[in-house]
Amino acid sequence: MNVKLFTLLFTFLIATTAVFAQDRTVNDDGNYEGVIKVKFDDTMVKQLEQLHQQKSNNLNVIKATEKGYVLTANSELDSKNKTLGAYEYKRVFRYAGKFEQRHREFGLHKWYEISFDSKASVDELLKAYSSVDNIEIAEALPKMTLFEKHPEPKNNGKTLSTTPSDTRYDEQWHYNNTTQTNGTVDADIDLPEAWEVETGNSEVIVAVEDQGIDVDHEDMVGNMWINSGETPNNGVDDDNNGYVDDYYGYNFGDDQGPITPGEHGTHVGGTVAAETNNGTGVAGIAGGSGNNDGVRLMSVEVFGSNGQGGFAEGFTYAADMGAHVSQNRWGGGGESQSINDAIDYFIANGGGAGTPMDGGVVIFAAGNDDVSRGASTWPAQYESAIAVASTDHNDVKSYFSNYGSWVDIAAPGSDILSCKPNDSYQTMSGTSMACPHVSGVAALIVSKFAGNITPSGVWSKLVDNTDNI
Ligand code: CA
Ligand code: CA
Repeated sequence: MNVKLFTLLFTFLIATTAVFAQDRTVNDDGNYEGVIKVKFDDTMVKQLEQLHQQKSNNLNVIKATEKGYVLTANSELDSKNKTLGAYEYKRVFRYAGKFEQRHREFGLHKWYEISFDSKASVDELLKAYSSVDNIEIAEALPKMTLFEKHPEPKNNGKTLSTTPSDTRYDEQWHYNNTTQTNGTVDADIDLPEAWEVETGNSEVIVAVEDQGIDVDHEDMVGNMWINSGETPNNGVDDDNNGYVDDYYGYNFGDDQGPITPGEHGTHVGGTVAAETNNGTGVAGIAGGSGNNDGVRLMSVEVFGSNGQGGFAEGFTYAADMGAHVSQNRWGGGGESQSINDAIDYFIANGGGAGTPMDGGVVIFAAGNDDVSRGASTWPAQYESAIAVASTDHNDVKSYFSNYGSWVDIAAPGSDILSCKPNDSYQTMSGTSMACPHVSGVAALIVSKFAGNITPSGVWSKLVDNTDNI
């Protein structure tokens, strides 16, 4: 090999790697460039599944051929793939092992994410592919936003409460407002009254689709859900559900089993089910009575340490693993049919026969932009999801909370005390903090009426038993 040829080859390899490794940029509409999601019809899906087997021997991904683009048996599609440099077809909902048949009945296997090596805009890609006969829907892939607000200054120095025994319970005005933060008495969720009839049921599972939960937190570890069919960290999908090492849930953002603790995921999880009456830290709404008997928290980490992803798959995963309530405080990009499909799958297939509820409830934070319309109001606006706005310690709408006729319920979200990674605690504000109050109460309802409650029954009990403010 002469030197010149070697140099050329080397340059080519570097250039190729750079194209495939570059981080995706986000356009002015908040969508990732160079990628779209499409739903194929049955005819095309059959062809693609032959390709999965013949060409790549990979159940989830079809790569470009040596021609530099994905080659199918459909000439209309291939012409677009060639012109626009479609280098990868990847299933939006990965092959799900023992749950695959149920996913197929729901049509989830028809959704693909197509990646392009092209300067074409997302709109141009959508236009090109939505005109293909065998494509039913084409939509953008939005970058999602985690709804958050920074903690605000707060006076400390509260005294201890003895009922329950959690050392910082008396600071949780949102459960029982005695004006300890100079708010209005009884501007709260009447939690002590609720606890007189129910404190949680360890067979009820709440999936927290968020950052990861600190699964070792001193005030949460006893209420973590674990996948008893999976051996952690052995590199094997022991329970054949399509996910390797999913023990406390799955880290979709980094596409790995181990969960990485995040401040917001831990805070949200703590509001739902920190261990109540255990003499430690805070109380959780459905955190039990101090006997390791709270509802269980499943960590669906869509905001990972290094990336985000799995917003649709998070629902199918949680449903397949038996979650009854899906807690979400993220959004963006407007309406997405693939996410709507995933939400509907959770509602239909969450929990299961022989568990406290056959079906699931999906709860979304309304968003923190103080608007009634816009990208951040989706998926909260989707009619199948319960949308939660935020109120403060005077029962007044929090200044940041999104609002509108599509909001189903409001809950305390300003200055909420809950867990923080590494056995600590902090106060945070947002519809993100309001939403887990509703998820926690939903979990109490499922606990109380276990075996005798439906998802629409939970919805009714939530919205029909509120104060009109
Ligand atoms: Ca598994
Ligand atoms: Ca506690």
